[in-house]
Amino acid sequence: MKKYQTLLFDVDDTLLDFGAAENLALHRLFEEQKMSLTSEIKGDYQRINQNLWKSFEEGKISRDEVINTRFSILFKEYGHEVDGVLVEKKYRHYLEEGAQLVQGAFALITHLQEFYDLYIVTNGVSQTQYKRLQKSGLHPFFKDIFVSEDTGYQKPMKEYFEYVFARIPHFSVEKTLIIGDSLSADITGGQLAGLDTCWYNPAMKGNDTGVDPTYQIHQLDELYPILQIEKALDEKQRCVDLSS
Ligand SMILES: [Mg+2]
Repeated sequence: MKKYQTLLFDVDDTLLDFGAAENLALHRLFEEQKMSLTSEIKGDYQRINQNLWKSFEEGKISRDEVINTRFSILFKEYGHEVDGVLVEKKYRHYLEEGAQLVQGAFALITHLQEFYDLYIVTNGVSQTQYKRLQKSGLHPFFKDIFVSEDTGYQKPMKEYFEYVFARIPHFSVEKTLIIGDSLSADITGGQLAGLDTCWYNPAMKGNDTGVDPTYQIHQLDELYPILQIEKALDEKQRCVDLSS
């Protein structure tokens, strides 16, 4: 008998490549501003963005302050005055277009949906996450999507998971596995909520955090043996074709 019935998947850098989406969105935004996006500017953006999100996590500023000031701060460093709200709106429009799949994600999800109840658990802006999931083609395979913005909480908060559990029919903690790339959000959150956890760690990062996931995988298809199901037929076929 299968150990799990319900699988909770993170989105960014687990199923969809956030770095690729962000990169493309920034390039388009700068193109529109008639500026070229150098690696220096990109590095500055990431530093400003990370610092603002950190202040948000520490409860010092609101989420709106993060997203509506990050670009005005960035452009100011380069001598341009911009309307932060307006630029954010444009950036988000481009970001919503970013639906690059992590390798193996589509084959995995389309196969697993035959055997499991699949749900999305993601921190982010609701409209952006929905649009990216729709564009990627993954959206129809999930029974429900829980974006932090809609719940009022976020991973790893226990309240976020309570919100999710209350909305999954016939939910059982013992029969649920969470899969995600973030030790601090997905794995810690899963553990606080009493779930088994699977850390997707494609870069094979070391872990000295003291957070100990139930499983660790480096490629998405390593989930098959954990779930004790056969790999998708077309994938096996592809492997045979490649090796012949
Ligand atoms: Mg993630």
